[in-house]
Amino acid sequence: MAILVLGGAGYIGSHTVYELIDAGRDVVVADNLLTGFRAAVHPKARFYQLDIRDRGALDVLFQAEHIDGVIHFAASSQVGESMSDPLKYYDNNLHGTMVLLQAMVAHGVDKIVFSSTAATYGEPERVPILETDKTVPTNCYGQTKLSMEQMMGWVSQAHGLKYVALRYFNAAGAHPSGAIGEAHDPETHLIPIILQVPGGQREKVSMFGDDYPTRDGTCVRDYIHVTDLAQAHILALDYLLAGGENNVFNLGNGVGFTVKEVVDVARKVTGHSIPAQVSPRRAGDPAQLVASSEKAKTVLGWKPKYADLETIVSSAWKWHQSHPHGFEEA
Ligand code: UDP
Repeated sequence: MAILVLGGAGYIGSHTVYELIDAGRDVVVADNLLTGFRAAVHPKARFYQLDIRDRGALDVLFQAEHIDGVIHFAASSQVGESMSDPLKYYDNNLHGTMVLLQAMVAHGVDKIVFSSTAATYGEPERVPILETDKTVPTNCYGQTKLSMEQMMGWVSQAHGLKYVALRYFNAAGAHPSGAIGEAHDPETHLIPIILQVPGGQREKVSMFGDDYPTRDGTCVRDYIHVTDLAQAHILALDYLLAGGENNVFNLGNGVGFTVKEVVDVARKVTGHSIPAQVSPRRAGDPAQLVASSEKAKTVLGWKPKYADLETIVSSAWKWHQSHPHGFEEA
């Protein structure tokens, strides 16, 4: 009777594993360690190094473990890279999920919670965005996640699989204990990049575009603490285990910050001047993404605990100060 976390050595996956284990759950982690870190995996989780595109390796795992439900984080997740290398995203995200679902159907595992994204909406018609709003992705990453949602829908109809898609807005912050945090190589996400400046690893921040139709011209995003995201996965899994139907939920704080505002919050938290310069727009970026998460609050009983951006940036800063090289040895 275990929960399988695919991609459990990655940023959001590793934080979810910590929350599951804190809640007394039996956890199996699978990760190919291409972008995840073995050191991010909770010591109480059973670990399998495998790629979800490897059906044979999945069969071995499903035969060895009694899996009640799957939480699926194993995907590529960078907007910019998805625009320059779309086939990587079709292979890792869509093909990977297809092989995973084939294995789940074959082994009678029929509940899955998985990482979707605000990028499924594309350029929203209004903010905050509701789950029923139209989905027209502007980047290949969002397109593959939307297609993954649709694949689950068809597999559900044919084989009775039940799924919850969690559309995250911008995950940020680190575990309150300081044990794990965000570590990408290369780093592309705004908050860790900003913190590299006071961390002495970067001279300045580039702000991608200041001619968007927003209050200061830079992109608006809704930043959500990774531990709050992790809690939502547990609630979604329990919802499915209790017989809940297929569903889609936004996860965000409902408050948008511009890139310039995030830089200002980081200046306040770190006490560093953090030089920032405007540079060209990044391909595929919508102007603003802000969530309505009322549905997750009502249906799942989700209550974000670390909603304030200063708290989120402070937890990230604590992690980056104590782990300037992430999970790698200096
Ligand atoms: N961004 C930026 N400079 C950077 C990295 C990101 O201006 O060095 C902007 C990016 O264009 C977007 C926002 O910060 O508007 C958040 O980007 P991130 O990659 O963190 O998350 P995404 O919104 O792509 O999921």
